[in-house]
Amino acid sequence: MPKETIVVVDDEPAARAAVTRLLQERGYTVHALNGGQEAIDFANTNPFDVLLTDFRMPGGLDGLTTVRAIRRINPQVVAIIMTGHSSVDLAIESLKLGVHGFVVKPFTAFELIRNIEQTIAQQTLARENIRMRALVDVFSTTQQLLSANTEAAQLPHLTLELAMNRVSARQAALLLLSAEQDSLLELAVVAERANPEDDGSGEGSLPVFHPVDSYSHSNLSQVEQMRLLGQRALNTNATILMVDGQEVEPGSARMSSTQNRVSQAVVPLMAQGRQVGALVMEKNGAEPNFTEADLQIAAILASQGAIAIDNSRLVHRLAQVEALHQADRLRSEFVAMVSHELRTPLTSIKGYATTLLRPDVQWNNQTGTEYLSIISEECDKLMQLIDNILEVSRIEAGALRIYPEPVQIYEVLDRAAMETRRRSPEVNLEVRYPPIDEIPYVMGDSQRIIQVLRNLIQNAIKYTPSDPHIVLELKALPYDEDYPHGMVEISVRDNGIGLTQENKDRIFERFYRVDTGSARRTEGTGLGLAICRGIVEAHGGRIWVESEGRNKGSIFFFTLPVADISNQFNLD
Ligand code: ADP
Repeated sequence: MPKETIVVVDDEPAARAAVTRLLQERGYTVHALNGGQEAIDFANTNPFDVLLTDFRMPGGLDGLTTVRAIRRINPQVVAIIMTGHSSVDLAIESLKLGVHGFVVKPFTAFELIRNIEQTIAQQTLARENIRMRALVDVFSTTQQLLSANTEAAQLPHLTLELAMNRVSARQAALLLLSAEQDSLLELAVVAERANPEDDGSGEGSLPVFHPVDSYSHSNLSQVEQMRLLGQRALNTNATILMVDGQEVEPGSARMSSTQNRVSQAVVPLMAQGRQVGALVMEKNGAEPNFTEADLQIAAILASQGAIAIDNSRLVHRLAQVEALHQADRLRSEFVAMVSHELRTPLTSIKGYATTLLRPDVQWNNQTGTEYLSIISEECDKLMQLIDNILEVSRIEAGALRIYPEPVQIYEVLDRAAMETRRRSPEVNLEVRYPPIDEIPYVMGDSQRIIQVLRNLIQNAIKYTPSDPHIVLELKALPYDEDYPHGMVEISVRDNGIGLTQENKDRIFERFYRVDTGSARRTEGTGLGLAICRGIVEAHGGRIWVESEGRNKGSIFFFTLPVADISNQFNLD
């Protein structure tokens, strides 16, 4: 590591020359200056590490004033004062005012060098200490970035905010490569401190986020410059530091500065070798420099932010791929099942038609009519099946339309019961509901609700081989915080073949049919309950079944939301 650069300020040419020669012999780079003002001018344009100044310089600025002015320009400078015996007390006092060490004249070469080395070492340690404390703090803050409950969309904001606050930047922006490969860096978030005087260290220093689109629109050239620098930082995987638009070597206390300067640090965001984006920060005003500690903190935040953003993208992409696979599998399954279901009635139609068409057989009228009516029935089943398949695919595509309005739900139950009694007079059907004035309106599509009831009642009859006793019941459920206006529950109970636990879990899947006992001998497509579930869920309700087991009967339940009719009149 090269030795430090030292500025020696003494108004006595002989003393100045002697000290300069001594330090040069020890390998330091030395700039010898005549007085305080010269040193300040020099500091404005040149970087250096140590200021060694005489205390008393009659006719010019004194040593303490010089030190304080230079430390305002470059806070990293280590300041040592050379003083005579008579001013030792003053020199000690000056230690409280920004001076780091002093050496009493006359001094030997050994004393001077030892003093300089010790003071530099002390200051390096003190700075290191501050930096370590800041880093520990930063590491604990970054846990937020990596914690599971941080929303993916918030990660860029959080990274930017943490970086701005930790580094006391006035302005900052985060650019991200969009998730597709080979894309351009795009501005993702941009923020600025509300108060230009604010360096972020005090109260009320929260950064204000700008809407990205309008910012990009009105700051086109800045955004373009950030893009270029960001891409270069990514390509070299190194931080770029700019002072007043000029690139400077990053990472040292040797960086000079003046007031009213603008510095920019552009930090690459990389995660496991993948380019993620770039963090651009800007400082100006009283503290325009990025210190070494600032850059290290920014690098840590950028790498943690990059990992968090990259992880959330990977998780998102994985979910997308899984969803595509799942959709693909479902589609193939659906096509296979539909073809299978269509084949059964078609085979029967084809068989009877071929038989009727045999040229070697003369069919009598009765057989001909019988076969034709079988063909006609099979065609009806085919049409019903196709209607159901279309309905199920609408449900799965999320395209099932329902037209909800406030409905007198007990009337819908009565209608379903009337239909059943007309079609199946042998069935013992009971309808139960509370007194009419206690039944709330339901928010529903009555055509669709009756379709559900029809399906459940037909199943109840189909799967009850003897003496069906079916009970249709309506209840208003107690208040639930998910449904502020309440829910009603409708159930269809039968005394039929019942369901095992395994079947209970699966019968609402499309094409699922119980394949044992009397259920096997009953005709059906396995689509009815899938359609019922689609309709009920489209209303915001739930459908399920309870059964004590085989031959113990089943109860199908579904819920529907109560209508909020507080603002409606003349419903009857
Ligand atoms: P399908 O009746 O056309 O087979 P569904 O989707 O309506 O199709 O029903 C799926 C399966 O659920 C039926 O095959 C039958 O095994 C079972 N299931 C439906 N309703 C009942 C019931 N009330 N009692 C017993 N099993 C039933």
